[in-house]
Amino acid sequence: MYADPRPATRWNELPIVCPFCSNRGEAKGRWSTNAAVPFKLVEQVVRSFEFSAEIDDERRLFIAADVETDKVDWESGNGMRIECMACFGQFPVPEGADIDLSNLANTRSMNL
Ligand SMILES: [Zn+2]
Repeated sequence: MYADPRPATRWNELPIVCPFCSNRGEAKGRWSTNAAVPFKLVEQVVRSFEFSAEIDDERRLFIAADVETDKVDWESGNGMRIECMACFGQFPVPEGADIDLSNLANTRSMNL
């Protein structure tokens, strides 16, 4: 294991402020008792499976999801949002922000 290669995020200099509790990532803020970072990105997606089913003698329904048919519908989700780790409120990512979902370590080495 090697040390986390990401540069430290200067949270309180970013245009990310919780509209509910004004958390902006101050060191040792209320968020720090809940998580290692003051904000997380969250995305809800729709996941679907084919399934088979049967009912037993007591009319209980058994559903067997076929995990091989797992499909994630990225279009029907509610989009990427920011979750505040102090109050767990969610709010939009600031307009114009770029979100890179590739591995951060790889991204960094590409930029060297
Ligand atoms: Zn908050």
